[in-house]
Amino acid sequence: MTALHKYLVALFASILVPASGLSQEVINTDTHRLEEVAEGVYFASGNGALYTMSNALIIERDNDVVVVDSHITPAAGRALMNSIEVVTDKPITTLINSHFHYDHANGTPAFGPNIQIIGHEYTYKKLTEEPANEQTYRSSLLRFDNTVANLEERITNANGGERAELQTQLEFWRAHVRAQDEIDFVPPTVSMSDVMTLFRGGREIQIHFLGRAHTGGDLAVFLPQERIVFTGDMMLGGISYLGDGYVAEWADTLQGLKQLDFDLILPGHGPSIADLNRIDYVQTYYADLTEEVRRLKSAGYSAEEAAARADLRQHADTLGVDQLGANLQAVQRMYDLIDGIAE
Ligand SMILES: [Zn+2]
Repeated sequence: MTALHKYLVALFASILVPASGLSQEVINTDTHRLEEVAEGVYFASGNGALYTMSNALIIERDNDVVVVDSHITPAAGRALMNSIEVVTDKPITTLINSHFHYDHANGTPAFGPNIQIIGHEYTYKKLTEEPANEQTYRSSLLRFDNTVANLEERITNANGGERAELQTQLEFWRAHVRAQDEIDFVPPTVSMSDVMTLFRGGREIQIHFLGRAHTGGDLAVFLPQERIVFTGDMMLGGISYLGDGYVAEWADTLQGLKQLDFDLILPGHGPSIADLNRIDYVQTYYADLTEEVRRLKSAGYSAEEAAARADLRQHADTLGVDQLGANLQAVQRMYDLIDGIAE
């Protein structure tokens, strides 16, 4: 396995952590699991029928529906819309982008030209300035191509039941790669900087930018009456992807998140989080990673050496970091930020 591959395996393992205890009802559609986390508020995750990659949030108001995040492809976005129709026939009028990443924003074309799209001004910038050439997106395309190529190779050596299982996987990933052809980047129609509140239709929806973290424009969508917050990827059950992150600022941003009054976190990946101590766990990790990388950099180590030497094993119990070393891409990003190469 390559280092990136290992990192992704660890990432997906790390986000398969605690389930919530607050859910009321689960509705299963053809493509989604909709967890009703408050009356008329549904936490949506894909059921594996097609590749969605990320979670979404559905907020019903008196006369319309607000959606947070649109999944990874227009096909996945359409599947989300069809799942929404199972729980309500009200029109979807508003989409909020938690951040610019492909797996949360590339389903947006499915929602058509008349929808209002709210995003941070950084998200607007990223989705208007050459989004197709953006590094995180491009490496995802390569990763999915590799997944298909890998399965094709394994199938030639497999037999019987294993072959049938691999064939199913191959069709799933081929369908996803085909679905990428339809991607067309759609930026927000309304941008915001710090805070915006929607009051329409018997529901208060607060949208907060709490500082840079997973990207330069992460938004938290907070429902004060329902005491729930959708955090995108700035707060997952485990360590987030750090390739576009601002690790040195992340702990402060999470301190801002803690100032909101909620009982349940709905992350961009993985199950809902009722154990709010997990904020402390990741907050401490990002602070410790920052300190460790700064220490190694000032001792003269290259990013590669620092990634190999970084010791964060004090996070074994909380985040499963039981080996020496840190993700190279993350460390390189931190070096580039310190050196002023990245912005
Ligand atoms: Zn992301």
